[in-house]
Amino acid sequence: MKYYSIIQLFLIALSVPALGDIKSSGISGVQPFYRIKGVSIHVLVAPGMQNDPGFYSRHFRVKFKEVNKIYLNKTGKTVAGYTNGQPNIYFPEISIQLHYGNRYTYYDVKEDTDEITQLLDKVQGGNKDHINMVVVGKYKESVSSKGSLSGHTLCLKCTRKDEGIDKELIILNYESLFLRNEVKFGTGGTLIAHELGHYLDLNHPFGINFCSDADGIPDTPRAVGQFWYYNPDGSLRKNPCVNPPPKSPECILELRRRLVQNVMDYGPCRFMFTNRQVAHMLDFLQGKRTGIYDTVALDPASLDPTPESVTVNAAWYDCQ
Ligand SMILES: [Zn+2]
Repeated sequence: MKYYSIIQLFLIALSVPALGDIKSSGISGVQPFYRIKGVSIHVLVAPGMQNDPGFYSRHFRVKFKEVNKIYLNKTGKTVAGYTNGQPNIYFPEISIQLHYGNRYTYYDVKEDTDEITQLLDKVQGGNKDHINMVVVGKYKESVSSKGSLSGHTLCLKCTRKDEGIDKELIILNYESLFLRNEVKFGTGGTLIAHELGHYLDLNHPFGINFCSDADGIPDTPRAVGQFWYYNPDGSLRKNPCVNPPPKSPECILELRRRLVQNVMDYGPCRFMFTNRQVAHMLDFLQGKRTGIYDTVALDPASLDPTPESVTVNAAWYDCQ
């Protein structure tokens, strides 16, 4: 079974001047962009996730359009007092593999079980010049973990730690991607954008229990706690994006309010990176991840955030 859908072609790299030619080209508005060669998404289709292939291509096209808008700074949104960074990174090629498993354990996946570790390791070592992702029904770090994670970016054996790479694989929770309450938690697209931020070496800008410079990025304000969008009584804050919380009381020296619009924070308001987060991601990409992108010179106005190609292939990976 094979499903193909190719929409809307971008300007291709060959049609524009090489980077070194930009200054002399005299073409106004042309900038360098980082074109990620491919994203390979492996969906472990368990009972409860048996949608037709078109479901996955439609949804991932929408979600990666949102991811591209964020990484191209084309959301059209601004936030008072902070500058949106310009990553100029985009993800045009999305390939989806559906792996059918008929065991219910594939829905409620725990990272520390042998069969899952083997499978994740296989995906992680898969396409070396792509960003590899796995979608599972629900995901827990270990059998004993209480809650499931909406996403996790990790490295199973970290054979490239010497090179400074300790994030090789993105795991996404199906329920968080497709069934979540987006008003409360943000969209599935922001979840993917957040995990890609981890993949590009960004951390959360907040401390879990105390005020710390948790991400080491100087222009993200310090904050405390993951679930700022809840009131202490467990109810949701009213209009959290319109009335974001002021600076955390614990962060006495912090002059700025919490940047709830930051993709690396949690909650429903996220759409941007700061300038220094962008600089950090690009340093990492150019220093450690040279195999996964091409640099192209483009006029930003010509860049459509819709992915160029979203393909779905069905594969029978495991039918035990
Ligand atoms: Zn995170």
